Amino acid sequence: MKPETIAIHGGYEYDPTTKAVAVPIYQTVSYAFDSADHAAALFNLEVEGFRYTRISNPTTAVLERRVAALEGGLEALCVASGQTAVYYALLNVAELGSNIISVPQLYGTTHTMFAHLLPSQGVHVRFAESDHPDALEKLIDDKTRAIYCESVGNPAGNICDIEKLAQLAHRHGLPLIVDNTVASPILLRPIEYGADIVVHSLTKFLGGHGTTLGGAIVDSGNFPWKEHAARFPMFSQPDASYHDLVYTEHYGRAAFMGRCRSVYQRTIGAALSPMSAFLLLQGIETVALRLDRHVENGRKVAEFLRDDPRIEWVNYAGFPSSPYYNLAQKYLGGRACSLMTVGLKGGFEAAVKFHDALNLVTRLVNLGDAKSLACHPASTTHRQMSPEEQLIAGVRPEMIRLSIGIEHSDDIIADLDQALNAAI
Ligand SMILES: *Cc1c(COP(=O)(O)O)cnc(C)c1O
Repeated sequence: MKPETIAIHGGYEYDPTTKAVAVPIYQTVSYAFDSADHAAALFNLEVEGFRYTRISNPTTAVLERRVAALEGGLEALCVASGQTAVYYALLNVAELGSNIISVPQLYGTTHTMFAHLLPSQGVHVRFAESDHPDALEKLIDDKTRAIYCESVGNPAGNICDIEKLAQLAHRHGLPLIVDNTVASPILLRPIEYGADIVVHSLTKFLGGHGTTLGGAIVDSGNFPWKEHAARFPMFSQPDASYHDLVYTEHYGRAAFMGRCRSVYQRTIGAALSPMSAFLLLQGIETVALRLDRHVENGRKVAEFLRDDPRIEWVNYAGFPSSPYYNLAQKYLGGRACSLMTVGLKGGFEAAVKFHDALNLVTRLVNLGDAKSLACHPASTTHRQMSPEEQLIAGVRPEMIRLSIGIEHSDDIIADLDQALNAAI
């Protein structure tokens, strides 16, 4: 099925008892056991079923199947937020003393996790100088456990050459983990280009309405964990924390996902609530339609800004002048994302004035909402970084990040115009 259809039907057949057409909200913590034998079989993973909502839930399971299908993956695990998805995915492959190689252009909180939290737990993240595969390859050693990138960087707007990064990772026996939040599976499916694991903030375009936090980890099922058992013993050796289960034996191709759920979701438990899973499913039904309008409005706004003398620069991958134009053609089918950054003439001060003068466009830190949004990364999402770190992450003082929504483009442009007048 095509994404438009999967977004509406994927992962759900009418509830067998009630014939409910909408996905029911199973707002329950536990599930009754028929007998001690039945409970034991569930705990031994011998029969399919639900035990406790921290581990799995029927409403969330529909969302998991739908997101996996949208990404062309084998299985997915949904969690409480995008940050949890990033954290679990990395913890699942990296242990004390190992390292991860990352591109430098990252979502601010992911950068904080990589620069501070993971190292404090003994997993070192090496940031490449750029998103070029050669810059990442230089940093790989025998302790490396994954290559990490955002398919479209937030807020830098860079587009990673997923196919080349996947080839690089696989040459070194490593998985490529891709955060596909900004592109969404409607514009790009990284697994088709060789990515092994995809992570998402469902909070953004997939949910689409700025109402609900959520995250997902999608397993392509393609990485040969068994073949690389020396580097990834956790998948092929008996797990003492789970009555000596061997993930590659029990879960086969889904070993990564099985371990992620059994170890991290079960013991840390940043579970998505069933109500949130339901709300995210409502959002996903219209994701393809919304993306059409996001992309169209994004182009109109980018063209308005490019032609405006009050603007210093526009970073939008849909323009041939963008260094990422060719990659946008290849990976996004020319449909550049509606997340863009602009530099105002007048630096930090003008950017702040413009930001404060917006009326329709909302000042906040989110993206992918039906509403148009603006933020000033230097004073919000990326303020934890030094000015030098900000520049490497693609954040400049005069820069405003815009996430163009699905309102009428005339109204969005009129608001940007009046705010520019107020600023300059
Ligand atoms: C927002 C975002 C995240 C974090 O997601 P939350 O759902 O807010 O935890 C991770 N990566 C990217 C690219 C994001 O935009």
